[in-house]
Amino acid sequence: MIDAHVHADTRPYEDFEKMAVAGVEKAVSCAHDPLRMSTSDVVLDHINRIMENDTKRAAENGLKLYAAVGIHPRSISKDWERVLHELPALLEKEDVVAVGEIGLETTSDIEKEVFKKQLKLADELNMKVVVHTPRKNKSEVAKVTASILEDMIEPSLVQLDHIDSSIVDMTVEHDWNLGMTVQPLKVSPDEAVSMLREYGVDRFVLDSDMSSSPSDPLSVPKTVHKMKLAGFTAKEIHRVSHSNAAKFYGI
Ligand SMILES: [Zn+2]
Repeated sequence: MIDAHVHADTRPYEDFEKMAVAGVEKAVSCAHDPLRMSTSDVVLDHINRIMENDTKRAAENGLKLYAAVGIHPRSISKDWERVLHELPALLEKEDVVAVGEIGLETTSDIEKEVFKKQLKLADELNMKVVVHTPRKNKSEVAKVTASILEDMIEPSLVQLDHIDSSIVDMTVEHDWNLGMTVQPLKVSPDEAVSMLREYGVDRFVLDSDMSSSPSDPLSVPKTVHKMKLAGFTAKEIHRVSHSNAAKFYGI
């Protein structure tokens, strides 16, 4: 199994062992806002920590961790342009598989500018992007996010994340990969199963988004278990819990 979106820097060492024991072989840890991102140094140190420290902590437990690096909409420091300038070199590093997570939290002008600049960069470099949608005003913000994505980037490069029942209808009409975040207070394994039954498994990936918010490192295995009980075929389960993410990230 692949957990397509985690925040490994917020999690204890033991979580990686739990995931590996439950059959999660790979995960993608995305840059986010684990503390006040007051300067570009903090943002860059956070990104380096994922690439250098968390990949090692996970590997010691048998979990192969990859990184997505970028400026999260809640991590826009005053000197964010310096992070943007460093991104091309970071994206060339081993095990960095995408720009992310990026996107909009409130649709402020500065968020839009930082998001668009990173999409432009990803499109030019032909890099995948992991795109955040927020908890608050989700469908309104997702609409703005979707229209920017349509204008700025080749659809096959995009994974739109944290899909739930409020935005699934408007997102399935696009050719993006869709990240279904199974997390307490977001989507339960049972809700994920019913969405997959309704919309099919072709473009969905499963992720836990495990962070310092209420999270379950076993979200992906638990959803797979529920899919088995609900009668999905082994092939369908493999697509949504492994091969769609493997293909998207090239891992
Ligand atoms: Zn996230």
